[in-house]
Amino acid sequence: MYTIKLFNNMKIIDKIYINGLFVKPHGKQVQDLYNPDSGEKIGMVHLGDEVDANLAIDAAKKAFESFSKSTLQERAEILERLYDVLVANEKELNEAAVQEYGSPISATKGRTQYAAQIFLDTKAAMENFEFEKQLEFATIINEPLGVIAAITPWNANYTHICGKVAPAIAAGCTIVIKPSELSAIQTEILARCFDQAGVPKGVINIVNGTGPEVGTVLNSHPDVAVVTFTGSTQVGRLISSTAAQTMKRVTLELGGKSPNIILEDADLDKAIPLALLIGFSNSGQACHAGTRILVPEGKLEQVKDLIKEGMKNIKIGDLWNTQSYIGPLVSKKQYDTVQRYIQSGIDEGAQVLVGGLGHPEGFKGFYVKPTVFVNVNQDMIIANEEIFGPVLSVITYTTEEEAVKIANSTIYGLSAYISSQDIEKAKEIARQIVSGRVLINTAVNREAQSPFGGFKQSGIGRTSWTYGIEEYVEPKVIAL
Ligand code: NAD
Repeated sequence: MYTIKLFNNMKIIDKIYINGLFVKPHGKQVQDLYNPDSGEKIGMVHLGDEVDANLAIDAAKKAFESFSKSTLQERAEILERLYDVLVANEKELNEAAVQEYGSPISATKGRTQYAAQIFLDTKAAMENFEFEKQLEFATIINEPLGVIAAITPWNANYTHICGKVAPAIAAGCTIVIKPSELSAIQTEILARCFDQAGVPKGVINIVNGTGPEVGTVLNSHPDVAVVTFTGSTQVGRLISSTAAQTMKRVTLELGGKSPNIILEDADLDKAIPLALLIGFSNSGQACHAGTRILVPEGKLEQVKDLIKEGMKNIKIGDLWNTQSYIGPLVSKKQYDTVQRYIQSGIDEGAQVLVGGLGHPEGFKGFYVKPTVFVNVNQDMIIANEEIFGPVLSVITYTTEEEAVKIANSTIYGLSAYISSQDIEKAKEIARQIVSGRVLINTAVNREAQSPFGGFKQSGIGRTSWTYGIEEYVEPKVIAL
């Protein structure tokens, strides 16, 4: 069985996964991998190139010929086996995510289990999806579209890859994945899981490589039918325009700057600790993080006190401690970006309530101080751009209309949050918010049958449940 190579205690990822085989990439570039907790180098990944991307697409195209004809029962069984294999390998998957991504263990565990659950949920979704419909004069068939290209980011690596693989299997499509270069160890373990689950050769292929090299081949190749991308809005724009040249369908899961509206009647003792959990979710490296906390003007002083108090319960570092909530950022580059954003908040006149520049005391690696700004107005950079780090802005409002206006004022529309004791009022406001989802008094959506995706520049299309399968099929009519 294939295992990751160790050399001088370094993990060497020198294989990619094409047509059911772990093979050496043709690419010559090698990239270092770091432990974000210590900042030390822990390994290297050999990157694939154009040749590898083309080979993976060829394998997926060939596999599609038979896989597109597989039965629903066969595909449901594959999804079940994928769930079993991920659960069986959970410990190793968790360890890799803590080591390579710097995510505290409790968050890591939750994400790995969620990734496995995607396969079971998608199996259930298959039973609720109309693959074929018989009408009086015609049959409507939802046919698999073909080869899917999946481009994924470094945050929540397993969730994003599994979220794209599961509907592809359900629909009868084959897939080529270009994961983030920063998640190579995690992806390699996942590739081994796919292999162990007995997925037919060529149905899932994985090519490590850079976006401009491997990603561009996937986006422009005429044999790729769909590009499903999760990442920044900036790269999403590029992908969308390249994919348009060959009329590919695109699913884009992009950035966010999610508002969290604390209504006048909210129970602040609950709402503010919850706002900190929502804002600092995944150490702030979450597309759905509620990074703009909107509070009534008259409640600002009370909110400031509660934030300072609440921060005492947010544990940083000590990643194997189940009580820890915030880890380091994924890379030095991400650390530097977030420092620049904190500096810009200071330069534009916002006031640091907690946190600020530099590392938290006693930490090295890529740790950033969890930071909350007050005196923020809607024109500032920190109130508009996605920072993707643990940096929150408190913005005040005087009327509910103003709160809704501020909530809707960015280019994004991925997630939104409301805290209130009046559920009917909160629901009414939720309807006015331009966002793929609005969560009331909670940080998580427990409904597995929900779609996930964004309005405005947060994306195009939806993942999850039957919505995810729908992205990978094309309806065909056979009429008499
Ligand atoms: P990124 O956009 O820099 O990279 C994402 C992926 O795209 C990587 O695999 C990268 O190698 C690849 N890529 C880069 N340039 C490319 C190009 N020219 N052509 C093809 N591929 C290219 O994003 P990131 O820094 O890895 O992740 C953070 C971003 O992801 C944030 O903006 C975050 O909001 C977003 N995100 C969105 C969701 C969502 O569901 N909406 C979820 C998680 C992350």
